[in-house]
Amino acid sequence: TEELLQKTEKLSLVGELAAGIAHEIRNPLTTIKGFVQLLSQALENGDLPYSSIILGEIDRINFIVSEFMVFAKPHTIYYNKCNVSEILYSVISLLGAEASLKNVRITNRFLSENPYIFGEKNQLKQVFLNMLKNAIEALPDGGNIQISLSSEEQDIQVLIADDGIGMSLDQIQKLGEPFYTTKETGTGLGLMVSYKIIQNHKGSIHVKSNVDGGTTFTIVFPMLAEKDHAENIQ
Ligand code: ADP
Ligand code: MG
Repeated sequence: TEELLQKTEKLSLVGELAAGIAHEIRNPLTTIKGFVQLLSQALENGDLPYSSIILGEIDRINFIVSEFMVFAKPHTIYYNKCNVSEILYSVISLLGAEASLKNVRITNRFLSENPYIFGEKNQLKQVFLNMLKNAIEALPDGGNIQISLSSEEQDIQVLIADDGIGMSLDQIQKLGEPFYTTKETGTGLGLMVSYKIIQNHKGSIHVKSNVDGGTTFTIVFPMLAEKDHAENIQ
């Protein structure tokens, strides 16, 4: 089953609203968090009952609402020349320990030359982190993940393939919908955010998956032309 994923069009208006609300929620949350910490310190024994639960839940709200910030009108996001291999290496090393604990082997096949794209490094990192995390989570009994980078004409392709549990057509069609998750502690926000970031980078994402047959996500970005390699492009 193969699909081109384009869900963000429908989402963008709702997304903008959500981003606005997210922004408004984060400020009072920060205040609440600060006062819980102060209250804790103000007590004689320095220990406010349940404070770790309160703080943990505040962090969770913060995380969830922050995910919607990608739908905000970008004003403080600076795009630059980004080295895709470098970003992929950093993501692999971030999740490497978790993967080997779960008997997941990550192999990679990159290009001899470093292709560049025009983008925001942290957002791109977030996309690959989400996707690699999902691949690891699709391998509850261990297995293989292959990450490869290739170029075709003016495009760069990033392939993330796992031989994990896979998905049915029904599941594939729900990908990218906010809160769609099949995991007990999932948020169902990772792919929604990733799709939006990919769209902002003028990229596209495709998925190929079969139940028990593994999943391959292909993300395509326009390559940064050699003549634009100077640092200060707009
Ligand atoms: P979460 O990981 O919190 O569930 P995501 O948006 O990252 O949210 O993913 C949504 C759902 O898509 C997952 O719960 C899972 O069902 C499915 N999914 C994503 N990637 C994969 C994959 N590599 N293999 C199988 N299912 C996947
Ligand atoms: Mg996820």
